[in-house]
Amino acid sequence: MEGGSGSSSPCPLDKEFSDQIAVLLSPPSPESIKDYYDELMKTRKCNNLKINFSNSSGKAVYAIKEFEEGELVLKDQILVAAQHISNKVDCLVCSYCFRFIGSIELQIGRKLYLQELGLSANKECKESLSRFPEKACTRVLDDIKKHSVSNGSHGIGSSTYTNSKDNSIPTEVLQSLINGNMSLPYTNLFALPSIFYCPGGCKEEHYCSKLCTDLDWESFHSLLCTGRNTEPSKRDAILKFIEHSNGTNDIFILAAKVISYTILKFRKLKRLRFKENEKRAKLDETDFPLLLEAWKPVSMGFKKRWWDCIALPDDVDSSDEASFRMQLRDLAFTSLQLLKEAIFEDECAPLFSLEIYGHIIGMFELNNLDLVVASPVEDYFIHIDDLPSPEKVEAEKLTRPLLESLGDEYSVCCQGTGFYPLQSCMNHSCCPNAKAFKRDEDKDGQAIIIAARPIVEGEEITISYIDEDLPYDERQTLLADYGFRCMCPRCLEEMPGM
Ligand SMILES: [Zn+2]
Ligand SMILES: [Zn+2]
Ligand SMILES: [Zn+2]
Repeated sequence: MEGGSGSSSPCPLDKEFSDQIAVLLSPPSPESIKDYYDELMKTRKCNNLKINFSNSSGKAVYAIKEFEEGELVLKDQILVAAQHISNKVDCLVCSYCFRFIGSIELQIGRKLYLQELGLSANKECKESLSRFPEKACTRVLDDIKKHSVSNGSHGIGSSTYTNSKDNSIPTEVLQSLINGNMSLPYTNLFALPSIFYCPGGCKEEHYCSKLCTDLDWESFHSLLCTGRNTEPSKRDAILKFIEHSNGTNDIFILAAKVISYTILKFRKLKRLRFKENEKRAKLDETDFPLLLEAWKPVSMGFKKRWWDCIALPDDVDSSDEASFRMQLRDLAFTSLQLLKEAIFEDECAPLFSLEIYGHIIGMFELNNLDLVVASPVEDYFIHIDDLPSPEKVEAEKLTRPLLESLGDEYSVCCQGTGFYPLQSCMNHSCCPNAKAFKRDEDKDGQAIIIAARPIVEGEEITISYIDEDLPYDERQTLLADYGFRCMCPRCLEEMPGM
């Protein structure tokens, strides 16, 4: 067992709750792992797979029927996910299921409007570093809303475009696209769900449906909402936490979602128990099992503390490794203190220890967790391009200036990080038999795994965590970041000296 942060930890909760923390961090028993995944498979209606667990090699997913090449192997729902902050400028998506929302016009108008304001988002979505302070983003969105309310319709003649320099579209055109006063040809074929707003009154989260709105509120957002319904001191604290995350590493936002998920689940379990057994509803000492129960989905996912598992960047000398790791720990601690200020709850105090926080963040660092949703804007422009010539010429009068203005970025997809409970059980292979692949009908953030070749009954399902076309050495280097040395059949064959 690690956990020896003991005396050196800056977090007093690590010591105060060390017993409970040890229980929360002790690996679940094989039976409880089996029960958890059996239940999960049932709710996912996933009858063709099973999860095996061994102490030596951990979890693995096996086929219990044959799969043909191209067949759907698994559709896995997100447990917790977040869109990268820098990507929020490019894509307006449901905060719960990550489906694109609004309309093609809104997606295009909003993105160009934000770019115009100097918030060009063409930077790499390096998951760790976010470029845009949350405040700036909020301000811009406010700005858009104000305009869309106050400005009425603007007639646009084709002449509007002729005077545009360096590909920029006049602001009033963008506003008309945003507020729905201008429609583009053929967008009815690419209808998107209309927008639902956060019931807490914040302007940060948008949804595709009442269902997603409610589910997000119940599972995560009610504790993290910065809307008018949140008490002002809490709201300021949440904003400070978010600002810090956006300025340092947006992985902290995910960790906050995990903690708020666990607290909300804990409260729910407690209410249930209270209902079941009103008379003996005593507090405290009997509540810890409920916290453990609420924590169960997370306990299946984490492995190591963030600052212990993160790969040493190339520009850090190995002699500075210890201090590099301490810096990360201190950064996590700063973030945790801000989060504690915002949503601390006595009964869930162990969740606010640095030990637990470090393990939650580590869970996102170590798993293969890209959240990707293809953009309907890309599909739209492809459709226009494929039109027969007279229709295409006509449509492009309106669409070409927009496409030129968007440039290469017209197709930017929704990008983020997510934790997928079943997918994360799939082991890596450099000659995988399955792959993550979104089909045309997969328009949200669910993970879709497809058979890459025929799979026989009883075979382990493997995916590649990296670009498997790379040469042996580069593959091993990349996989070292995931904390293992690959011994797949291909690596065994290609291993130097074999
Ligand atoms: Zn949704
Ligand atoms: Zn809200
Ligand atoms: Zn390999």
